[in-house]
Amino acid sequence: MPDPDALPSYLDPRHLGSWGVYLQQVERVTPYLGGLSRWAETLRRPKRALIVDVPIALDDGTIAHFEGYRVQHNTSRGPGKGGVRFHRDVTLSEVMALAAWMSVKNAAVKLPFGGAKGGVRVDPRGLSRAELERLTRRYASEIAILIGPTKDIPAPDVNTDEQVMAWMMDTYSMHEGATVTGVVTGKPIPVGGSLGRRDATGRGVFVVAAAAAARIGIALPGAAIAIQGFGNVGGGAARLFAAAGCRVVAVQDHGGTVHREAGIDVAALAAHVAAAGSVRGFPGATAIDDPARFWSVPCDILVPAALERQIGAANAGAIRARMIVEGANGPTTPEADDILRDRDVLVVPDVIANAGGVTVSYFEWVQDFSSFFWTEDEINARLARILTDAFDAIWQVATERRITLRTAAFVVACTRILQARELRGLYP
Ligand code: NAD
Repeated sequence: MPDPDALPSYLDPRHLGSWGVYLQQVERVTPYLGGLSRWAETLRRPKRALIVDVPIALDDGTIAHFEGYRVQHNTSRGPGKGGVRFHRDVTLSEVMALAAWMSVKNAAVKLPFGGAKGGVRVDPRGLSRAELERLTRRYASEIAILIGPTKDIPAPDVNTDEQVMAWMMDTYSMHEGATVTGVVTGKPIPVGGSLGRRDATGRGVFVVAAAAAARIGIALPGAAIAIQGFGNVGGGAARLFAAAGCRVVAVQDHGGTVHREAGIDVAALAAHVAAAGSVRGFPGATAIDDPARFWSVPCDILVPAALERQIGAANAGAIRARMIVEGANGPTTPEADDILRDRDVLVVPDVIANAGGVTVSYFEWVQDFSSFFWTEDEINARLARILTDAFDAIWQVATERRITLRTAAFVVACTRILQARELRGLYP
């Protein structure tokens, strides 16, 4: 073991947080990589990381500075691909972890992309729409030296939406002097967006959950579902679970937690959130005041779909679900993974469970390049096939090697990444 003080900060095993979780996951997969393990260090180092200053004029005339990032973790298999997050807690190391999970995810579902991610350390709820547009445009122009339709293609993530993507696409296009729709995905339909993209991550969570449920004998009609996060991913998944006859028994977001044993009316909850900004105060369910109690709600399927590291050593033992389907990126720590494995709670990892969004982003990118657009039925059918094939392949590896689904997904994905690395060889 080298002297930790001699390592670059991002390789320091004492560095906690999401990047530390990712490094531990890589540690766990390395024994299964055979001869490719000599390239494994590639996985522990981001290829490029850019920190940018994002100054904007606020509406009252004062100047505010925000810190932004774009990280390309690995591009061995294709251009960087991954979302942009606007959140007050975003850090460089969090973006590094999210970029790395994108490398693994894209390889796990065999999309021809590497992994990248971006973020700005800002609470967008405190900005006016005009300020948000200025922030987005300045950030996009600061990272324009890295992104491009064949280099690195951003997409939405927490607190960024179709409008933000349209502003990013426009800003990049103004620099280029030509409309370049393929530089970002998750755009509105009139500017090169894809049908089915808005719901794609939630739909993918549902498709993968259904495949996993069938393997362990959970019948979806009547199954109890608990969901943390009711945004793009959690809200979309909730709708599809309800449509399949499941009972969505508990929902938690940043503002509160609501519970109803007989099943929450998901459409009514969505209308409440659209009006009130949170599930708090929803009249069709009972409020749970202590947010920690959300984790011990009895259910068949628990879907964390908010932020990283929500399930750790402190609450993994309290979970009363038969399986966890990770809508969020990195919601479960390695310590919690071990506790859940020992308690026989199946964990379907993020890199497959939430890959629906990037899969339809891939379709959007292909459609933008060919300027030929597919029907929603074609998109949903192709999405379901890619995800169920990927899930089946990972299930088989997990069964054969007697390892968790997460380690199996990492084995499949990291093998693909490092095979590409080895085939390309080292430059110069
Ligand atoms: P979003 O902004 O649309 O929604 C986030 C949700 O999480 C909101 O309901 C918010 O209230 C809730 N939340 C925030 N902080 C919380 C807290 N402390 N406790 C409980 N709930 C909290 O974001 P999203 O796009 O739905 O992303 C959610 C997760 O899914 C993230 O981990 C993201 O990286 C991941 N993800 C998103 C996509 C995508 O296409 N949007 C794709 C793959 C993975």
